[in-house]
Amino acid sequence: MAMPPLMNTYNRLSVAFAYGEGAWLYDTDGNRYLDALSGIAVTGLGHAHPTVTRAICEQAGKLMHCSNLYTIPLQQELAAKLHEVSGMDNSFICNSGAEANEAAIKLARRHGHNRGIDKPAIIVMENSFHGRTLATLSATGNRAIQAGFEPLVSGFVRAPFDDLEAIRQIAANNPDIVAIFVEPIQGEGGIHVPKPGYLEALRQICDEKGWLLMLDEVQTGNGRTGRYFAYQHTDIMPDVVTTAKGLGNGFPIGACLARGVAAEVFGPGNHGTTFGGNPLACATALAVMNTLEQDKLCEHAASLGQYIMDSFRIQLADVELVKEVRGQGLMIGIELREAGTELAVLAKVKGVLLNITGGGRVVRLLPPLIMSQNEADLMVNTVSRLIRIYAGVEQDQ
Ligand SMILES: *Cc1c(COP(=O)(O)O)cnc(C)c1O
Repeated sequence: MAMPPLMNTYNRLSVAFAYGEGAWLYDTDGNRYLDALSGIAVTGLGHAHPTVTRAICEQAGKLMHCSNLYTIPLQQELAAKLHEVSGMDNSFICNSGAEANEAAIKLARRHGHNRGIDKPAIIVMENSFHGRTLATLSATGNRAIQAGFEPLVSGFVRAPFDDLEAIRQIAANNPDIVAIFVEPIQGEGGIHVPKPGYLEALRQICDEKGWLLMLDEVQTGNGRTGRYFAYQHTDIMPDVVTTAKGLGNGFPIGACLARGVAAEVFGPGNHGTTFGGNPLACATALAVMNTLEQDKLCEHAASLGQYIMDSFRIQLADVELVKEVRGQGLMIGIELREAGTELAVLAKVKGVLLNITGGGRVVRLLPPLIMSQNEADLMVNTVSRLIRIYAGVEQDQ
């Protein structure tokens, strides 16, 4: 086939999927694959979930789009549901993770101006990922994502992840800081789980300095780590939370949630979107959130994730190439001592979809929250065997 007229923005594996069901995807040749990636933490309810499909079909037949010039009852209902699960005061509904983060960045800047800070700055982390728009790639802690797109958006101050001393030093020296923006667990950076007490300490510093604590839960949200949001593993509350990926189970939607002073920052005309919060997207997200709750999928993610990590640790204990198995809930990374970029292709050949992140050294597994224990066993056995063969500990036959 001639090269399709698409911009060359992705390195794609040579497989195309025709349909999916639950944790399984079927390619155009009829082969099936266990989906251990969920479209990068998107399809938490698996593929073609009947409740989500029904919600989309019913709403598409009624009203798909309605301008934010008018009242949108489903958007209000979704905001109420997000408030209920998060304890945050209000939300702005948009279409993607990067958009949710743009809203958070704008909110923090405006909060700074309200406090008389003319050049407000936000602390962001090394190794972070916040998106591909200009402001979010500037916030991202990965040179490869920024290179060639300078001048970057200013107003970000970088600190190492999980390093409180670095934050305290910035606090002592930079009067322009208005917020800390951080992923509770770094996803694209390689599934980095901070030490216990990190978020609590950041909360305390933010309280002392009058800064906003803003959490990027685009990847960690929507049950992925075993609670609806990852901060709910602690007893702190953030000022701003962004989410997207799993919220629509594949239907594009994002949200920026705020609390307290942060919830009062925007007024009419300060921010907006044409598509964001349309009835179809909101009906879909409501179906997703209700299903997560009714089927107790956060709890399932917590216990299945622990089981999967325990199983990997046993099956990979004697493999020198494996440095660490880590994660929380169904956000799991297997760090290797050397780059193993080919493992994504090799896993696909064995019928499992996963990806490699963290500079090529972290095998990332983000299985759907509806995955059964049998499917988890199949995933762990296949991936463990693959890594053992790759490491030369076992023969392929
Ligand atoms: C994927 C991701 C984003 C970007 O979301 P998009 O929907 O691709 O714009 C932002 N932050 C985190 C932590 C992510 O994992």
